[in-house]
Amino acid sequence: VKIPEIPYHEILLNAIDKTIADGKNKYAFISGDDPKLTLTFEQLRKDAFAVASYLHSIGFKKDVAAVVLPNVFQYASFFIGCAMNGGAISGASALFTDYELQRQFIDSRAKVVLTNEESLPKVLIAAKQSPSIQKIIVIPKSTGSSFPSHVASWNEVVATRVITVPKVQIDVHNDLLVLPYSSGTTGPPKGVMLSHYNFASMISLYITTEKSHILDVLDPNWDNYKEKSLMFLPFYHAYGFGLLNHCLLKGMTGIVMSHFEPVNFLTAIQNYKVRILPLVPPIMVLLAKHPVCAKFDLSSAQLIISGAAPAGKDLIEELKRKYPNLKYIQQGYGMTECSMASHLPDLTNNQPFGSVGKLASNLIMKIVEPGTLKEQPVNQRGEICVRGPTVMLGYLGRPEATASTIIDGWLHTGDIGYINEDGNLFIVDRLKELIKVKGFQVPPAELEDLLLSHPKIRDCAVIGIPDANTGELPKAFVVRVDNTLSEKEVKEFVRAKVSPYKRLEGGVEFIEEIPKSAAGKILRRFLRDRSTAKL
Ligand code: ATP
Ligand code: MG
Repeated sequence: VKIPEIPYHEILLNAIDKTIADGKNKYAFISGDDPKLTLTFEQLRKDAFAVASYLHSIGFKKDVAAVVLPNVFQYASFFIGCAMNGGAISGASALFTDYELQRQFIDSRAKVVLTNEESLPKVLIAAKQSPSIQKIIVIPKSTGSSFPSHVASWNEVVATRVITVPKVQIDVHNDLLVLPYSSGTTGPPKGVMLSHYNFASMISLYITTEKSHILDVLDPNWDNYKEKSLMFLPFYHAYGFGLLNHCLLKGMTGIVMSHFEPVNFLTAIQNYKVRILPLVPPIMVLLAKHPVCAKFDLSSAQLIISGAAPAGKDLIEELKRKYPNLKYIQQGYGMTECSMASHLPDLTNNQPFGSVGKLASNLIMKIVEPGTLKEQPVNQRGEICVRGPTVMLGYLGRPEATASTIIDGWLHTGDIGYINEDGNLFIVDRLKELIKVKGFQVPPAELEDLLLSHPKIRDCAVIGIPDANTGELPKAFVVRVDNTLSEKEVKEFVRAKVSPYKRLEGGVEFIEEIPKSAAGKILRRFLRDRSTAKL
């Protein structure tokens, strides 16, 4: 695949210009929360230039701008406007506390913050402790809102006259385009430095391999301009941000949802006859188990792609049974450190069950034995390593973490997996989360999938708890449908199906909800803290 060596925002602006010139699709975004709210491609383009001029006028150069927002229309124009100045955006969750925001502001040395009126109070607290911040821009709730003098309103920003569109020399290989933070599943989130070239390589998968595009497989006569893309996965995370970019490049309309809300999500599938659903496992669990789904016509959906966390066999089978119109339920795999996906479903071939797909065409891969780094043959488990143009420049301000993650040019993913003869990748689990019982390794994902197949279990998570005799023991946290389910029943259900060392000897605890990140990952560290607090 040929990767364009031009600044990424130029690629994006060219695509937007083409969509405008074609005149077949007017709307870049429609709100999924309130369909009366829309944004045209033309307005988006105009706003991006105004943002660029405004940022230039306040002395923003190759700097970082933090974005503390749920999914909103303004994300895209702000991103492009920043990039036009040679700057990078660093997205944060609107649910972060002021402490978490402060951490990211200081770590990223953010100069500007874009937020909304709802999050402004905590942004102001966090900014006070973050010396790099010079300007806060806020999206007002209504036209009547007024702000302190050092805070600019978005309305003022987009009203900036475009006289001085900055001419910045961009080094596509070394200048940052985005600075996302890793999810913080296994430790504190790390700033992932992604260049213009990293991103251009990632999206080149979408724009130059037109014919292998997923929709072509579903329907050779498909029309980008008619297709709608649901945008509820958070833009601050690699997955949601990748989808946003994909949609803009293809001239599709994004149905933007500020956060995931089941009824809005199901309504949007039904009303817009959405065919492809890029999902995360908790939403698949909802589709498989929640009674509200039966009230909607979801027959347009033909393809589910799952990513970000493991989706088990039982879950996929349940979905296939429940939604016979679904032609494919496949997984992809990736991480912030490689700009989003490193493995994509191959719909032209029969992808084996449980596989997360094949290596993206712009990467190479190897599986190594942890510790010795010896390369493993086909079908042997080991740590997945990838190499290629989408791999990050490094972690910001963390040379040691970078050196232990990128070794001789190879990105060590921290995930254990294997490839079969046909190059399909299978994920076992994260290296850090494998439960070690008497020298055996138990992947929590395997037990979670099994537990989810129990009709009285709504959700679950498994962790390893310390044990003097065996090292660790698997313990399950279970959200039950009703309290007729006992600990004994859960244990016996598992016992009947797994090898002895995988039994739930660490116990079963019933809880109200499994802690998860907005990108759908189980936050096992909270469950671990909860377990140790009880000992
Ligand atoms: P941190 O690195 O801060 O601990 P994180 O690894 O969860 O957080 P992300 O970059 O958002 O941050 O997620 C990438 C990880 O998500 C992968 O390393 C892998 O563990 C997991 N993952 C992604 N896709 C899949 C999948 N299809 N199946 C299983 N795990 C997946
Ligand atoms: Mg990670």
